[in-house]
Amino acid sequence: MTDVVVALDVGGTGIKCALVDRDGVSHHTERHPTGAGQGAEAVIGNILGIAEGLAGKALADGLTPVAVGIAVPGVIDEDTGTAVWSANLGFRDVPLRDLVAARLGLPAALGHDVRTGGAAEARLGSGRGSRQVLFVAIGTGIAAAHLVDGTALAGAHGAAGEIGHVVVRPGGPACGCGQFGCLEAVASAAAVGRHYTELAGVPATAADVATQLGRDDLADRVWRETVDALADGLVIAQALFDVERVVLGGGLAEAGERLLEPLRVALRQRLTFHREPQLVTAALGDEAGCLGAALLALDALPATDAVPALDNVEAP
Ligand SMILES: [Zn+2]
Repeated sequence: MTDVVVALDVGGTGIKCALVDRDGVSHHTERHPTGAGQGAEAVIGNILGIAEGLAGKALADGLTPVAVGIAVPGVIDEDTGTAVWSANLGFRDVPLRDLVAARLGLPAALGHDVRTGGAAEARLGSGRGSRQVLFVAIGTGIAAAHLVDGTALAGAHGAAGEIGHVVVRPGGPACGCGQFGCLEAVASAAAVGRHYTELAGVPATAADVATQLGRDDLADRVWRETVDALADGLVIAQALFDVERVVLGGGLAEAGERLLEPLRVALRQRLTFHREPQLVTAALGDEAGCLGAALLALDALPATDAVPALDNVEAP
């Protein structure tokens, strides 16, 4: 029987799920609504029920479920398996890891969505081959994960990597966090759409702006300002982390070279003594969080069950 882990990536609107074997191959995927509108208790109930259903599905398919990995947004204490705070899900100090482990009778692990997605990119996606990777997710918000040898550094309180709340435009647009001019408030995919809509007076998304580049002066202007802000943020990150490779994910990264090419130039203009990181886009798309949750579950297995196949990063 093939061993699989039950992986769940819990988002504000949907839960992506998979059964993943020790080689990182998905045997089954499912999607469910999160049900966040019904409150935290309902979301917890949904997560437990879905995880149990997936373990049952594995057994029915002749697979052996051996562990559970769950990725959630917000502030996550991975050591205690606690969802400390999550605005989208209404979580406050939810001991989710232990709840899942008790319900399924399997070892479980809890991780932060961007850190688990980053770990998947570092080990299975665009970060492969680099020991020091910064994964930056640019979507509705902006968040990052610093991966060293495929493992995300969570910080003392589970809140590392909040590059979206580095102030790059003092006195700039208000941010949801309470500050003004945060990177997220000026350069997230949501901010790009908002900025263009304000200037042009017609509703537009970041994807619309990207397709208008070279044909629409306003789109060019918004994009240039976005690239400049991102470069300002990345040069701070590079000063702090000195990574080998920066992997850009999230909706804005779908612009590909239209984003990467000017961003490389803008970054180069700002770097002085720092070493220039390679700038690439993510490879795993919206499956990264789920695969990362699976890696977390595999990592949580006893050492004798180590999974060398997934650890493609060479030991020092
Ligand atoms: Zn902020």
